Amino acid sequence: MSKTIAVIPGDGIGPEIMKATLRVLDAIDCGLSYDVVEAGMIALDKQGDLLPKATLDAIAKHKVALKGPLTTPIGGGFTSINVTLRRHFDLYANVRPAISFPGTKARYENIDIITVRENTEGAYLAEGQTLSDDGETATSIIRNTRRGSTRIVRYAFEMAVKKGRKKITAVHKANIMKTSSGLFLNVAREVAKEYPQIEFNEMIVDNTCMQLVMRPEQFDVIVTTNLFGDIISDLCAGLVGGLGLAPGDNIGADAAIFEAVHGSAPDIAGKGIANPCALLLAAADMLDHLGMVEKGSKIRQAIRDTMEHDRAHVTPDLGGKGSTESFGEAIAKRV
Ligand code: NAD
Repeated sequence: MSKTIAVIPGDGIGPEIMKATLRVLDAIDCGLSYDVVEAGMIALDKQGDLLPKATLDAIAKHKVALKGPLTTPIGGGFTSINVTLRRHFDLYANVRPAISFPGTKARYENIDIITVRENTEGAYLAEGQTLSDDGETATSIIRNTRRGSTRIVRYAFEMAVKKGRKKITAVHKANIMKTSSGLFLNVAREVAKEYPQIEFNEMIVDNTCMQLVMRPEQFDVIVTTNLFGDIISDLCAGLVGGLGLAPGDNIGADAAIFEAVHGSAPDIAGKGIANPCALLLAAADMLDHLGMVEKGSKIRQAIRDTMEHDRAHVTPDLGGKGSTESFGEAIAKRV
């Protein structure tokens, strides 16, 4: 297979973890070519624009991008580039898998939960945030639509069927937010009827948090609205050992951007000790998306084997003394 993807190395630790990730992709021989483009602080410095048009054009052309973390400058009226990218390409599904790996300080083993988060509406509408002139009253609008709820729930069910998952839990707060969360829940119930082969249940978000901490094995796929999904997926990342192992896939009808959930980690940038696994797991998800499911699984298995049998090369965040490069190299040798 010959396919070109857009590659955005990003800021901070981005170029380091991207190099290790591409090393593994090359080792697995997946036939990908890379159109390397800039965004973030690097792009601002070199091209005077945080998100140059050439970068947007490359993503639109190739339809698939692998992206390192981007720094959003604080102040100065800059909108998050990540949010801008999601809006620009209407990347409505944010898929965040949390899988247990050996040798972490995680409290549980054998966790395999995918959170499917609505990525474009809910509580994240920029125009829905207002502050009164006297600064005394802040208002934040939550807007869920039938169209937005339907497409995210349907995405979750289609994904479950494709990946052979057994159960979907719709997470909501319809007991209190009767209109917005209520609409989402009603849609989830309706769509679930189209997929009798997948077990469906519903759970209120506060109970979900407690259940995730106490009995995470009851969850398989979670589908939920934007804000709840943001919080719950971080909780799930915590269950499997933290952000160094958390990929985030942003999927739309016309484009998909695969990234790590973590940011540019300025505190360790340039030190060569960043864990490349979150981006590498995102790359594995990208291979699934491109129809190379076996190769995606091979990468996950190679990460697992390296973490179990090759502790010398594991990065410090996972308790090892390895570097980004040596960790990537050790994984590349196993794919
Ligand atoms: P962060 O995720 O960059 O870092 C939080 C902590 O986790 C730090 O101590 C960092 O060293 C550690 N960490 C993160 N990734 C790691 C890795 N791969 N290996 C080892 N340790 C790792 O969060 P932050 O410091 O709040 O944000 C820094 C910048 O990143 C901000 O500008 C923020 O806007 C941006 N950000 C970007 C994205 C994205 O591009 N998707 C996501 C989150 C934050």
